Amino acid sequence: MSEQATSRDETAHRQLTDRVVIATHNSGKLVEMRDLLAPYGVSVVSAGELKLAEPEETGTTFRANARIKAEAAAKATGLPAFADDSGIVVDALGGEPGIYSARWGGPNKDFQFAMRTIEDKLQALKTADRRAHFVSALCIAWPDGHLEEFEAQVDGVLVWPPRGTQGFGYDPMFLPDGHDRTFGEMSADEKHGLPPRGKGLSHRARAFVKLAEACLVRH
Ligand code: IMP
Repeated sequence: MSEQATSRDETAHRQLTDRVVIATHNSGKLVEMRDLLAPYGVSVVSAGELKLAEPEETGTTFRANARIKAEAAAKATGLPAFADDSGIVVDALGGEPGIYSARWGGPNKDFQFAMRTIEDKLQALKTADRRAHFVSALCIAWPDGHLEEFEAQVDGVLVWPPRGTQGFGYDPMFLPDGHDRTFGEMSADEKHGLPPRGKGLSHRARAFVKLAEACLVRH
């Protein structure tokens, strides 16, 4: 076997080395994605800072929408671009809101309202099934068309009323399995920190671990 083939899986995956655009306009996600990339010596600029237009998310899966966002930012900037598409999947609601999680917050991105909408629907169904999953699809797109894609989820149950003021979006309603505090009650490190700061609990952290193993070199 050649030396190249036995080294880190560089033949299959492309390394992200220098500069990357984070293709999100969501400030909560931007903070988390910056935190996750910090140990890898990659310099980061956000789509918001570059005033890039937000592409329409026309995909029918998390993966497709992550790809749309990453490809649009790579094309607009000539730099590799990193995007996440994520959301909360509620079993008793047939997977809703899923890829529409951001839209359930309405034009004012009101997630108190979105959490209440989920709760009202569960109450209307008179169901005891409160299982839910946060899903994250990550994509890095290069200007030459190369793509790297990773996906992960974290499982839990929905609590009512919401608890905690940390994090963003649906965090205060989501109690991850094996824990007694919601994401809204956890520090940033507990929710998405990687070892040694945290345990890589969140969907985004779990997908990021896969991405880092394939595409990043720790500095
Ligand atoms: P996207 O920007 O289209 O991927 O929207 C994802 C939406 O899902 C966000 O606006 C949040 O409402 C929700 N979401 C995704 N990840 C999280 C999370 O880690 N905590 C809470 N809500 C999340």
